[in-house]
Amino acid sequence: MSQITQLLKYQQKDAELLAIEQEVAGSEARKKYVQTKNFIKKASEKLDQLEGKSQELLLLMERLNNKYAEITDVLKDFENLDELVNSGADISFYQRNAAQIADSIKALKADIANLTTAAKETAEEYQALKKKVIAAQKQYPVAQAEYQEYNNSKKAAASAITAELEEIAKDIDENIMRKYQAKRSERIFPIICAIKADRCPKCGMELSIAGKEIVASGKGVECENCHRILYLEK
Ligand SMILES: [Zn+2]
Repeated sequence: MSQITQLLKYQQKDAELLAIEQEVAGSEARKKYVQTKNFIKKASEKLDQLEGKSQELLLLMERLNNKYAEITDVLKDFENLDELVNSGADISFYQRNAAQIADSIKALKADIANLTTAAKETAEEYQALKKKVIAAQKQYPVAQAEYQEYNNSKKAAASAITAELEEIAKDIDENIMRKYQAKRSERIFPIICAIKADRCPKCGMELSIAGKEIVASGKGVECENCHRILYLEK
């Protein structure tokens, strides 16, 4: 049996294995498992971000507390206002000062309100996400086991095909087989194709003169463009 015929036989069987692999890759069980895994990873990162944000908010709160303390200090001057005014202090200075303090308090109140809203929102977002993460963490081992179980259910069929493939490969040149496997891992399939009107049937590249001679002699030649193995159907 020629190498090409043997390779075609191999490829035909290999297509069955590929179908199983694709079925597993596209299965609901795998989708659910991968989704749960990705969600936990992303959500954990988001939780870290929210923790960082709450730290920032605490720092801002500290700053507002300091501002409050400063204003309280200034207000202490007003405790003895009677005496100060009686001893000839300029009342208009204290009036201006009082107006400034009132403005500062107003601004402080607005800052506190904004900060309270931000803190509340951050806490709510954190709590909601945390709940989802806990649920996903419970779901994860279930999804993992279901995917594993699904995988195992396909294993017997895949092993039987692999054994047949190994048997067929015994009659194929090792170098050719290595090339075939390399292409398969690059997700090229089918790998062996019959030329149509001197062209690769998959990408349309025309064979070189040397290439045409090789296929005419019954051997395979690599497509210069998509690197499939091309042969002449007899
Ligand atoms: Zn091609």
